Amino acid sequence: MSAVVVVGAGIVGASVSYHLARRGVPVTLLEQGPAPASGVTKHSFAWIGSAGGHWPGGAQDLREYVLADYRRLETDVPHVVVRWTGSLSWADTPAESSRPGPGQFRIGRSDIATLEPNLRHPPDQAIHTPSDAGVDPTALTHALVAAAGAHGATVLHDTTVISLQMTNGRVEGVLTPTGLHPATTVVLTAGTGVPKLCEPLTADLAIADSPATLARVAAPPGLVKRIVARPEFEVREVQDGELVLVVPHVEGTAAVCEQAAQDALQHLKTAFRGSDQCRLLGYGIGRRPVPRNGPVIGYMTHERSVYVAVMHSAITLAPTVGRLIADELVTGSPSSELQRCRPPVH
Ligand SMILES: Cc1cc2nc3c(=O)[nH]c(=O)nc-3n(C[C@H](O)[C@H](O)[C@H](O)COP(=O)(O)OP(=O)(O)OC[C@H]3O[C@@H](n4cnc5c(N)ncnc54)[C@H](O)[C@@H]3O)c2cc1C
Repeated sequence: MSAVVVVGAGIVGASVSYHLARRGVPVTLLEQGPAPASGVTKHSFAWIGSAGGHWPGGAQDLREYVLADYRRLETDVPHVVVRWTGSLSWADTPAESSRPGPGQFRIGRSDIATLEPNLRHPPDQAIHTPSDAGVDPTALTHALVAAAGAHGATVLHDTTVISLQMTNGRVEGVLTPTGLHPATTVVLTAGTGVPKLCEPLTADLAIADSPATLARVAAPPGLVKRIVARPEFEVREVQDGELVLVVPHVEGTAAVCEQAAQDALQHLKTAFRGSDQCRLLGYGIGRRPVPRNGPVIGYMTHERSVYVAVMHSAITLAPTVGRLIADELVTGSPSSELQRCRPPVH
């Protein structure tokens, strides 16, 4: 297959580039930031799992592959670390908790205390999902980009794509401040930057830009054992001695956002024994690309030269999506698994 330019080195662009490069495709990955994972990916809670959660539109057809694709990356890609901790989730009252699905179990207080021994007040009931896992999203993105490079991909940071270069409805490359990067296929994985890059092709891809806040907390290693999702916060250990904490999002000044992060930290301290030394390392607001009807993945032009890949829960989906996209770009044969993700074609 001839030259492919991938625009955006978040988790999706990193996975697409890796999977294309390992199939021998000449790939150039362009990222506007100074490093991979400069967008929403670095602010992700990065909970992966296939048992619970919301699977809109075509995401449902990808669900069965998620865990196997992560196991494959652990084997194939150096420095990919997945924390297979399982998760515990509960609502304020058991009646509000969702029903356990396949692979999930409703467990009682003593089992919860065994799984999460530092909880001060385990609830009466929780949903336990043993197969759930988490990653460090920045480390994973870096590992995939490095692996793409090892397979021959060219990776350029500090390179903003200004627009697509189109002639007679066919892409010839992308324009950057340093000039044209020629390509026969351009894959747009620029997250919330995708709608602007698609403007010559379509006015509305129906992708919302949805802010969410994540805090990083220094903590005693092993304080939190599983992914814990409770009404006030979600928390997990992202690496030894560091927790990530989803903070209820508030719009406002930096002081207002910082206060929300401090409040979430206080909830954490109230919930966990041995957390007195926990301290906020920082917080960040990520702008999540959320397509209205589920993942948007496929060619946008009849000439099959501009391809788009945007989705929510992309940490969960990226390994599967990267594999399937590479397969259909290399073979030219449409993937049946991606059939319900297609964008409007122009
Ligand atoms: C608080 C929070 C919690 C989350 N929790 C989860 C979770 O538990 N599980 C899960 O699966 N998902 C979760 N998500 C969502 C997940 O993080 C996103 O779906 C995912 O990171 C999107 O990845 P992406 O590669 O599409 O976008 P991005 O990471 O934004 O990557 C796009 C890249 O393109 C670059 N770019 C943009 N425009 C241009 C341009 N013109 N030229 C060159 N480069 C460009 C950007 O700099 C960026 O690096 C969460 C998100 C947040 C904020």
